[in-house]
Amino acid sequence: MSKKTAGPEIERLIQLLSRLPGLGPRSGRKAALALLKRRQDLLVPLAQALAVAAEKLVECPTCGNIDTVSPCTICQDPRRDPALIVVVEEIGDLWALERAGVVTARYHVLGGHLSPLDGVGPERLNIASLLTRAAAGEVKEVLLALNATVEGQSTAHYVMEQLETVAGDRPLTVSRLAQGVPIGGELDYLDEGTLAAAIKARRKI
Ligand SMILES: [Zn+2]
Repeated sequence: MSKKTAGPEIERLIQLLSRLPGLGPRSGRKAALALLKRRQDLLVPLAQALAVAAEKLVECPTCGNIDTVSPCTICQDPRRDPALIVVVEEIGDLWALERAGVVTARYHVLGGHLSPLDGVGPERLNIASLLTRAAAGEVKEVLLALNATVEGQSTAHYVMEQLETVAGDRPLTVSRLAQGVPIGGELDYLDEGTLAAAIKARRKI
């Protein structure tokens, strides 16, 4: 039997923290120790914040974003341009575009990209709800801000074709990010300046 350093509750805390992105067992232990040493000003408020988030988290029925209010804060914001929908793969991309701060649009989170080899077809992504939104009269432009990867671009192509079908004779501009997004680039990793330039110079497709 291996010898134990801490009680099961602390071992569990370390284990869970180690699963967070960017952390491993070593950083997980460090984080756990920091929490244990700062019980009142860090551990307790964090535990409460996690409990509240876990209880309230909900996927926005309109755009696929995750928030604690439904529809999400972005969908409820009246200052955002209802004529423009920015389509992203993941919520991390939405956050990256918000950090860049160049668009005051609404978003649509697909929840990934098409990947036939992994069994991810159109029905597994939030594409049907996007088409419903785009068919509504107030939407004038859909900006496909998908990653500049092979999967991201083939997803963009598919979505564009579907949008053209639902638009019919109604003028609906479909655009995509322009220069500045390197081939293979994932939005979440780009700096805000590059993202801002790519949105400003977006191209109609
Ligand atoms: Zn929303």
